[in-house]
Amino acid sequence: MSVFSHREYDHHEKLIFHRDAASGLQAIVAIHNTNLGFALGGCRMWHYASEHDAVADVLRLSRSMTYKAAIAGLNLGGGKSVIIGDSRRDKTPDRMRAMGRLINSLQGEYVSAEDVGINERDIALMAGETPFVTGYKAVNRGGNGGDPSPLTAYGVFRGIEEAVRFRLNLDSLAGVRVAIQGLGKVGYELARLLSGAGAVVLASDIFSENLSPAIKELGVIPVAAGEIHRQAADVFSPCAMGAVLNAESIPEISAPIVAGSANNQLARSADGRRLADADILYVPDYVINVGGLIDVYYQYVGTDRREVRQHIDRVAGDTLPKIFHLAQERRVPTSEVADQLARERFMISSTSDAEVTWPLPAL
Ligand code: NAD
Repeated sequence: MSVFSHREYDHHEKLIFHRDAASGLQAIVAIHNTNLGFALGGCRMWHYASEHDAVADVLRLSRSMTYKAAIAGLNLGGGKSVIIGDSRRDKTPDRMRAMGRLINSLQGEYVSAEDVGINERDIALMAGETPFVTGYKAVNRGGNGGDPSPLTAYGVFRGIEEAVRFRLNLDSLAGVRVAIQGLGKVGYELARLLSGAGAVVLASDIFSENLSPAIKELGVIPVAAGEIHRQAADVFSPCAMGAVLNAESIPEISAPIVAGSANNQLARSADGRRLADADILYVPDYVINVGGLIDVYYQYVGTDRREVRQHIDRVAGDTLPKIFHLAQERRVPTSEVADQLARERFMISSTSDAEVTWPLPAL
């Protein structure tokens, strides 16, 4: 398998492969860029079809963390890790501890947190081996630490409000139809916030047990999994896995706005142009889903928790409208505007607007 010439390599600083013989852990850590600070990004456990798929996934995820931190105005770099295996079958406490030791060996250059397949309990096990993890209760110095999904959902909700204001000229979500793909940790909380604001929520999930509580508790309208992007809605909100916006799906989307939490929604960067040509306002994924990163960052450095929502509000209320307006004026896709703004911040060796915070001292 080629590594340096891999299509997704994109100037990564480090790619670390690790196998722990005693526990059977097989993991990869990717550090994309640390110009702005230490790399912060979650750990994903997934049953990849091949090692090649795992490498491609960790590289794409790690790169988008660099862009996400930069656009959020955080002095953080981008990194991510993946554990190869089925989280429901192959996860053991020994493997989580071994992952903690791997993270510790990087001495703060990479700090980890939850991602798909890894929960707070797993992070707590890793924390027994390393101080370089965040996003679980014990690490938070303000007392409210833990799963960042609710704040990710809050950021997506705020992003939908801004997109609806810009594209549909509406100041309220009452009666706005939102089709959510995936009612997991983020999707369910987003459905709750949208229902509370009077929106009409349609949703799909591949597991009916994830859909039923939302139907019962929130009045969500269920839709078959393969049909959700085709629904007559104002907003299509991908909150499951990546690459859902592609050459096949985009012509089938009838909503004028795409705004959801999933990472790496564009199958290829050219799909950003495809969405713009279809007159669909795409809210760039790593901008709208920034709430989780902002949350775990503040948990890690121990800042006042009130700052978290204010910071998310700034990204939704200032950065997103700026991206929408620039895209309209320059006639370029929103995804390209976001990439440009992010690159302007991280493609420098030192920052002028704040101190670089790497390596962070162990907590
Ligand atoms: P999750 O695993 O809790 O939820 C994902 C849900 O999507 C599950 O209910 C799953 O059954 C469903 N799903 C999977 N494939 C589907 C499909 N084809 N159609 C419909 N439903 C499907 O994950 P999560 O934490 O809610 O994250 C959702 C997405 O948001 C992921 O892409 C994640 O990387 C991204 N994200 C999450 C956070 C966070 O704080 N949790 C932060 C940033 C980005």
